[in-house]
Amino acid sequence: MPQANPKLNAFPVFMRVEGEAVAIIGGGAEAVAKARLLDQSSAVLRIIAETADTELLSFIAATGATHIAAPYDVAHLGGAVMVFAASGDEALDRRVAEDARRLGIPVNAVDRPELCDFFTPALVNRAPVAIAIGTEGAGPVLAQMLRSRIDRMLSPSLGPLATLAASFRGAAEKLLPKGNARRQFWSSFFQGAPARAVEAGELSQAHDAAVDLLMSKAPVAGHIALVGAGPGAEDLLTLRAHRLLMEADVIVHDALVPEAIVAMGRRDAERLPVGKRKGCHTKSQAEINALLVELGKQGKRVVRLKSGDPLVFGRAGEEMAALRDAGIAYDVIPGVTAAFAAAADFELPLTLRGVSSSMVFTTGHDLKGNSLPDWAKLAISGATVAVYMGRSVAAEVAGRLIEAGLAPDTAVAVVENASLQNRRRFHGTLADLPSLEARADLTGPVMTIIGDAVAGANFERSEPLAAHSHESAANAVAAEVEP
Ligand code: SAH
Repeated sequence: MPQANPKLNAFPVFMRVEGEAVAIIGGGAEAVAKARLLDQSSAVLRIIAETADTELLSFIAATGATHIAAPYDVAHLGGAVMVFAASGDEALDRRVAEDARRLGIPVNAVDRPELCDFFTPALVNRAPVAIAIGTEGAGPVLAQMLRSRIDRMLSPSLGPLATLAASFRGAAEKLLPKGNARRQFWSSFFQGAPARAVEAGELSQAHDAAVDLLMSKAPVAGHIALVGAGPGAEDLLTLRAHRLLMEADVIVHDALVPEAIVAMGRRDAERLPVGKRKGCHTKSQAEINALLVELGKQGKRVVRLKSGDPLVFGRAGEEMAALRDAGIAYDVIPGVTAAFAAAADFELPLTLRGVSSSMVFTTGHDLKGNSLPDWAKLAISGATVAVYMGRSVAAEVAGRLIEAGLAPDTAVAVVENASLQNRRRFHGTLADLPSLEARADLTGPVMTIIGDAVAGANFERSEPLAAHSHESAANAVAAEVEP
């Protein structure tokens, strides 16, 4: 590998532009791009363009920027703190750059690094926080890639949080001794209750939380985020889930969450798998609740990572109750539930005009009693039914629904490993559904969708459900447990 050059040829600084004039010469796309970039600041824009295209004109109208509709003249640069030569005309840009230099005003010429005193960065704007990415004019595409990566990592509420921090700076300096105490305060401020309140849009609550932090020597409060990991594909994680994973001290995850998603968390985060799969060491729900409470008491930032959506068959209710009882703060971050991923894999409309206008999330495991559960009645009246953990009770589900009056030829779609590369799709009718129990070849999680709307799905890449023989029923059915 070549030795990296540790010296920057362009040194980043943040220039004060509030209320200062910035001149942009040009009337086309290059000028619009610079004007948009500069409009993220409180500089006063002066656009010199004898003819401006419609995009630039509407920018000027929308922002109130000054427009000098005249041929460029050196006098137009007077008093500016920065000049952008963005005319797209090499000779004119060169003239502008030379004029600016003579006047001692730093100049940037679009796409002409040799004429530039400075380069413009790709900008992540969370005013007053700014992250500027520079590649010394070599790689604008690279800069944009880095920009979007960093942008994703940072909460949209970072700006207001930084503004709040600025208002506490004086008080913190007065009340807290320099060193550890002050560092602790700021670390809790930016990662604890004040930050969470700002995130929730509760600015006055954030202020109060910061005052509490400042006044008490209370230990850092822990926090548990119940996070939906989605159905399995890494890029079906929400941006918020990803950000929390990158901030977590501890990640407590279920077996159904793929390693690739857990690995998206902070590298030095502690990772605690808590089951549940047949044959693996698993913790009981009570043990998981106790673990979360304990981590919260230790002041940890915990991500409790659950497959799909945490509030759908995820036993989140019990975990939230335990956290509430123990007085530990928590949040819920939704995820793409398996039913939605399965429907997407089948291009299956879960609601369909004139066919199905309601949907049921259920598990077949409540069919044991004598009376039909409410969802079965809904199915009969036309709801689309998504059955979670339904493989081992497929025959029971089909039998009871048919007995209750649902047509045996009602369409059924089944997906194993929805959203993942290795997914398998099956289609058939309610009468075929019992064959699912016999399929020893299905080792991943399985989602079953039943209803007339299913007939609107795309079955091109799916196999018939009934083709498989029923004989291997005895050695089939891996355990299905609610994570
Ligand atoms: N909270 C999860 C559900 C957990 S219950 C969610 O919202 O999706 C576990 C059941 O979810 C599995 O038995 C299976 O029926 C379903 N499931 C989870 N991931 C799945 C996937 N990728 N493909 C198909 N079904 C899945």
